[in-house]
Amino acid sequence: MKELHSFGWYAAKVSPHLPKKAFKPVPMRLLGGFLYVVVISSCFFLIIKYNLHPILNISISLLIGFCFSAIGFLGHEILHGTVVRKAWLRDLLGAFFMLPISTGPLLWRKWHNMTHHIHTQDEEKDPDAWPSMDALSKVRLLQWMYKIPQNVRAFFAFAFLFITFTIHSTKQFFFFVKQAKPKKKITYWVQFLIPWTLWLSLLLMVGFEKWFYTFLLPLFITNFIVMSYISTNHRLNPLTEINDPLANSLSVTLPKWIDVLHFNFSYHTEHHLFPGMSSKYYPLVKEQILKLWPERYHQMPMHLAMIALWKTPRLYYKEKELIDPKKGKIYGSLGHGLDPKAINFREEDREQKEISAELAVDKRN
Ligand SMILES: [Zn+2]
Ligand SMILES: [Zn+2]
Repeated sequence: MKELHSFGWYAAKVSPHLPKKAFKPVPMRLLGGFLYVVVISSCFFLIIKYNLHPILNISISLLIGFCFSAIGFLGHEILHGTVVRKAWLRDLLGAFFMLPISTGPLLWRKWHNMTHHIHTQDEEKDPDAWPSMDALSKVRLLQWMYKIPQNVRAFFAFAFLFITFTIHSTKQFFFFVKQAKPKKKITYWVQFLIPWTLWLSLLLMVGFEKWFYTFLLPLFITNFIVMSYISTNHRLNPLTEINDPLANSLSVTLPKWIDVLHFNFSYHTEHHLFPGMSSKYYPLVKEQILKLWPERYHQMPMHLAMIALWKTPRLYYKEKELIDPKKGKIYGSLGHGLDPKAINFREEDREQKEISAELAVDKRN
């Protein structure tokens, strides 16, 4: 088995091969962000001012949804401090670009920067990691989910992507606000309430139909785009004891124009090596990783990753595999037998099947 290394270990080996400018903030990224704001404002104007045909309104909504997700990716980058260094400006710009996804800068930095990045794919500590078989007996929802046939379950899981980010973000808000000191609690609440007040005021101003086209439908689209990336970032990889980004992260590949429009958000392994580096330089990081550890690096086209997500369960089995507990089918994870082009499973052995069945017993009995 390959030895695991921390992200700092990899970063130290790659850094000497990168130009100095790669470690500096890139304020020019804001230009792209403001172009998106111009497009979004124009779309809002068209929908609110004119009574357009529903098909036209839906098309404009799709465009707004695409732009919302793109500025969300920029907000993510800004809150890592890779666009501007001054803390107050970083938070202000981050809050602005994350308005559509109603996630405040304090929450995002605590949840994403300080928790997800530090404890990636640690079942207990990473708020974005999926559970293992051990959780099955404790979480009734999981027991219920795995009684549903695989394809039906996958269909609902994919449909759920249209709202998952908003739900997960709200859940994280209540989790972190509970632990915060009184002074910080106020900041959490203010940053949570400002975006929602804004969106609800828009509803009162323009009425439900125009609000649906300007905000609600675009929010569903944004959720789906953002979650398509987030779902593929780590969920096909194993849980790892050491936060090794080459083992626990996946970079998806997309046409170049999408990478440009999405601020290189697809380079997720590179991002976990250098979260404080502008994503503009991630192609250079990828070049180095491919030179140094080609056998460890995971990348695949986005559509293959999505198909692999559809075909595999989201319950870890002994950290490195995935299990459908009802059928006793065990699938590999990336680096541990998962081939996205030919997804296979093996049957759980009898003894293990009995243990799984015991774990799955409803605690009510
Ligand atoms: Zn990640
Ligand atoms: Zn990040």
